[in-house]
Order: sequence, then C-alpha cells, then structure tokens
Amino acid sequence: MATTMSGIQLESSVTSFVAKTRKMLINGKWSDAASGKTFDTFNPATGEVLARVAEGDREDIDRAVKAARAAFDSGPWSRLTSSERGRMIWKLADLLEKHTEEFAQLESLDNGKPLTVARAADVPLAVDLFRYMAGWATKIEGTTIPISVAYTPGAKYLAYTLREPVGVVGQIIPWNFPLLMAAWKLGPALAAGCTVVMKPAEQTPLSCLRLGELFQEAGFPDGVVNIVPGFGETAGAALAGHPDVDKIAFTGSTEVGRLILQAAAGNLKKVSLELGGKSPNVVLGDVDVDAAIAGAASAIFFNHGQCCCAGSRLYVDSKIFDQVVAGVSDHASKIKIGSGLEPSTDMGPLVSAEQMNRVCSYLESGFAEGAKATVGGSRHGDKGYFVKPTVLVNTHDKMKVVQEEIFGPVVTAIPFSDTDELIAKANDSAYGLAAGIWTRDIKKGHRIASQLRAGTVWINCYNIFDAALPFGGYKQSGWGREMGHDALELYTEVKAVCSAL
Ligand code: NAP
Ligand code: MG
Repeated sequence: MATTMSGIQLESSVTSFVAKTRKMLINGKWSDAASGKTFDTFNPATGEVLARVAEGDREDIDRAVKAARAAFDSGPWSRLTSSERGRMIWKLADLLEKHTEEFAQLESLDNGKPLTVARAADVPLAVDLFRYMAGWATKIEGTTIPISVAYTPGAKYLAYTLREPVGVVGQIIPWNFPLLMAAWKLGPALAAGCTVVMKPAEQTPLSCLRLGELFQEAGFPDGVVNIVPGFGETAGAALAGHPDVDKIAFTGSTEVGRLILQAAAGNLKKVSLELGGKSPNVVLGDVDVDAAIAGAASAIFFNHGQCCCAGSRLYVDSKIFDQVVAGVSDHASKIKIGSGLEPSTDMGPLVSAEQMNRVCSYLESGFAEGAKATVGGSRHGDKGYFVKPTVLVNTHDKMKVVQEEIFGPVVTAIPFSDTDELIAKANDSAYGLAAGIWTRDIKKGHRIASQLRAGTVWINCYNIFDAALPFGGYKQSGWGREMGHDALELYTEVKAVCSAL
C-alpha cells in the first residue's frame, strides 16, 4: 500500500496499520467479512489507495448485533457497576490521548484534513468527550415523584423513575470528523450502559478501527463495542433495519436520514438523527469588522466547509457588505492548499472525488443562475480532490447554492438592510442546525439568537464545541441532541416504578 507521504515522518504504528488489511471487530475478535470481500480507502491528497478494509454486509451486521445483544442481556457489561463503566471509559480516553499523534496522522491520511487541525481539535475533543461522558456514568439518576391518584382515596404510594440503558444501539457515522463522530456516539451510549454496533463511513474507516483496538486494551468486555466497516446501502441499511437493534443513531445527509427512519420503522426502534445544515452567519452593521471577517472566513473554511454547521450563508449589513466580502475573499486567497500532512497547509483536499465533483457541480449551478465568484470558484490542481475556497456574490435566496447544503469551502454572501427582513431570510431554510451573529450590541445579539430557528447560535464566535454543550438540529437538521447531558436521553429509557405503601 502507498505510504510515501511528504511533509512529515509517519509514525511506524501508522505505516504498519495501513499496510495490513483491516478487519472488523465483532465480539472481541478481528475477523474478515463473511463474504471475504474488501474495499479500498484512499488518500484524498493523491487519490492513491491508502489501505484495504474488510467489507461488512448483512451477515456481519447480524453477527455483530448478536454479540452486542449477548453482552447487553447477559454479558459482563450489564453486570458492571456504573463506576466501573465510567472508569473504563476514562481509561479509553487516557489511551487515546497517549496515541494523539498516531490518531492525528491516521485521520489526516484518511480524511485529508491538516494534521495540525487533527492534532489540535479532532483528537483532543474526542478525548475530552470520553472523559466528560465517563463522569456521567455514575450520575444518571431518576427522581422520586409525589403522586395523588384521585380514584384511590387515602392510599399511599412510593413512586420513582429509573433511567435504564436503551439496549443494543446501532451507530452510523460520516467521514467529516471520523474519530470525533465515533466519540460523540460511543461516549454517551457506553456511559448509559448500552452496547454498540458501529458502522464508520466507507471513505474514512481507519481511525474508528484503531479505536476498536484501544477499547480492547482498555478492558471493555467482548461484544460491548463492535465495529463493522462497509457501505451504507448494504451494511448501514442492514443495521438500521435490524429487528434486534433497540436504537439507531445516525449522522450524515438528510436524504439518508429519511432512509434510516424508514428502515427503523420495522421494529420501531428509537431514532436520533444529526443531519445537514445551511447555517446563516449574520454580520450586523455595528460590528468590529476585522473580527467579523476572520470569523466569517473560519466559519465556512474550517474543515474545508465539510461541517454540518458550516456558516455557509453569510448575511451582511449592506453598509459594510463590500468591505466584508473583500475581507473574506482576501482571507480565502491566502489559504494555503496542500496535503494535510504538510505542516504549512491550511486547507487539505475534500474527502473524495465524489465530494469534489458534487461541490464543483454546485459551483456550476450557481454560475448558471447568475452567481459570481469573488475568489476561487473551481477545482484546485488536477491531482487529489482539492477545491479552492470560494465566495459567491450576486446570489439570492431561491438559488440552489443558497438553499442546499454544498458541504465544501463555498460561502454565499447576501446583503440585508433591515433586521426583520434578515431574520426571515436567515430562517428561510429547510435546515436549522446552527447560526452565527456578529455584533457589538450584545442585547441585540441575544434578541436575534432567540428568533433564529437553530439548535446552536454562536454570538461573536463560530464552531465552538464542547463536550458539555448540546448540539443538534431544528427542522430537517435532525432529531435529538448530541453531547452535554442531553445526549444521555438518546441512550436511556425512563421506567416509572410505583409501589403501594
Ligand atoms: P451519507 O451517505 O449520508 O453518509 C453518512 C453515513 O451513512 C455513512 O456511514 C454512509 O455509509 C451511511 N449510509 C449511506 N446510505 C445509507 C443507507 N441507505 N442506510 C444506512 N446508512 C447509510 O453522506 P455522504 O454520501 O457521505 O455525503 C453526502 C452529503 O451528505 C454531503 O455532501 C453532505 O451534504 C452530507 N453530509 C452531512 C454530514 C453531517 O455531519 N451532517 C456528514 C457527511 C455528509 P457510506 O460511508 O458507505 O456512504
Ligand atoms: Mg454515501
């Protein structure tokens, strides 16, 4: 397998990890697919094959679900105390932290993101998420409830609730933050006492598979965490439709989110969805213009725009519109594009040829509808999957590039002159994941925040994530919240117990 990488010396653990065909983790054992099939994962900076991975399908998912079922129903997992569970998750976090460089390199190779970003954000945020959730394992509590019961006058009861794990959980994750998305899903599920079958994205299975080895090292019993790489239409669909899975948690496109819902209908498994976005980022006229320009640029260009919450619709007070657009465009023109492994790279390739082509066809559609690029507007180079950071003007609210999620480094800039008009424009979307507001008038900022239909609103900042802060969408951006204590609700059932005294 090709591992001749420029820029840095790869850790030997990374080169040896990608050199072997990676197997799937089922019931504590690393095994080939039942079909014997494999698929390739590519280095998006070069388009070369990076590693070969076992291709799971229905039969493998079925074996993994059986293992997770046994570990939940009768296995050691359900007999552990919450303190033991918490300590195990904490140990996993320590191991992950110890291997930060290795995971950052794997992530950069498989996804294309700058190594510097994976080191500073992806891995530490995953470590922190596991630690945060480890702490919750011992704090998932019910309540005692005074009840009156009109038709049993004089009777007394003790009534209370228990929060119990929902059971066997299927988790399907995307490729934009492969390790971090695995952490967002596994952390709360395990803290709650569930067992898991996870399917990573076909483009980026490597960090999740390496994480599987750390789960074993941390002492998690067999069958508690199962990882089945494979394709969405086969392995993913089998997991979402499996009759013995109690809950499915999905992050990805809204289109596939709908398929997940349909598949889940068979046994009415619980569903949580973290879907797409087309988030408005609003710059008011009173703002510190330089701060707003830097913020608007990073809101869209962070992770190459491959963020579900990317600030992809920039609304700017018409008084400073030209100045802000010029500033963001200048910012974009200075972004250094290159392999994620090069220390000087600001922006790596998009994850795949498919994603690059999708983004470029959005650009074409924008130009066909009259949009103009002040910077960028096309593919970068002819090797690897790079797209130039792009600012589109001459756009209006009904254009495809303003309505649909592009999931690339492309922002549409639109002026506004009145706050009510702005709120209507910002909310004119099928999505409701996130929003940004830039202003010196903090009261106004909070007032606008209350009027935006979005699961997260950032004021004078953007892309600020924390394990303690819930994240999820209004409208077609999803169901449920990940992170924070809200995430535990996705993985627990409430049992009411009522005892006559
Ligand atoms: P996607 O198809 O929604 O992929 C997300 C996950 O779902 C992957 O693990 C995928 O497997 C799996 N999947 C696909 N079809 C499935 C099915 N029928 N049943 C069960 N699981 C299934 O996303 P994509 O194709 O990679 O990207 C397409 C667009 O989705 C992007 O352009 C972007 O707009 C959006 N997206 C959003 C997010 C987000 O964070 N909200 C993340 C990624 C993409 P495979 O890996 O085999 O496809
Ligand atoms: Mg797909």
